[in-house]
Amino acid sequence: MAPATTDNLLVEPDTGFWGPRTSTLDWCERNYATTTYIAEFWNTISNIVFIIPPLFGIAFAWRDRVDHRFIFSYVGVILIGLGSSSFHLTLHIFSQMLDEMSMLWATSFFLYCLMETHSKPRSNNGSLIQILYIYNAFASLSYIIMQEPLFFQVAFGTLTVIMMVRGCYVAMSQDCCRYLVWYPMILYFTAFVLWNIDNLYCEHVQRLRDSLPSPLSVLTQLHAWWHVFVGIACHAQIQFSCHSRSIFLKRHCTIWTWCGFLPFLEIHDDKQPSTTNISTQLANQSGKETKCRLTKEL
Ligand SMILES: [Zn+2]
Repeated sequence: MAPATTDNLLVEPDTGFWGPRTSTLDWCERNYATTTYIAEFWNTISNIVFIIPPLFGIAFAWRDRVDHRFIFSYVGVILIGLGSSSFHLTLHIFSQMLDEMSMLWATSFFLYCLMETHSKPRSNNGSLIQILYIYNAFASLSYIIMQEPLFFQVAFGTLTVIMMVRGCYVAMSQDCCRYLVWYPMILYFTAFVLWNIDNLYCEHVQRLRDSLPSPLSVLTQLHAWWHVFVGIACHAQIQFSCHSRSIFLKRHCTIWTWCGFLPFLEIHDDKQPSTTNISTQLANQSGKETKCRLTKEL
């Protein structure tokens, strides 16, 4: 995942299986340091967070018969993971564009879900779909042709700001799960801090990395940690959006977490929540079935 930034060039040979680096961005992990087949090893494999959780999200969404827009959102997160891993794998300009454009398209899926939180059951907003499609297509094609990062940053940033404003509106306009509001925000903020430390203080981070023994040095791969935190945040954000939609539709639902950090929505329209594996009930905010109820941890 590569939020565009200043060109962070490192004095490195850039040699390996994928040839010379052609991307305009490079990161604090030393290129081809772990294996000659992967330019940035930890930055590449950490993208698994964008791929595995959404696969479970799709399965549960299908089971619970939620709107297909949420499945598209999960697919968008997977696309981010694939684009980002291809970028960090090769450090080629084309894969960098794939990474950045996948972020744009996935964000538009997130935005559409939030915009349609209060729409009629099983309805689609054709006009909004067309607007988002034209916007993304225009931004993507322009970026490919002009290769102007600033133009793309503005296009992506605009979409992100609209999404955040809409998310705040949804959170304030109805009863919602506070845990699902704050959790992704905290994760995004933590990731943003790590991303900046990695970019601004790369030399210090590398010096610390060199001073640590092998298992511990992995902890200093801050861009990889950025992937992990943002990947979980994207997942939690979809849960928030889907949960808010379920509340609006008056569907009975609960939230459970995998290992305490990966939330999943469970909808049970025709039955009571499962009592198996219920160990905690951490956030029953009101006692009403449709509100946030964190029922179990696996
Ligand atoms: Zn990245």
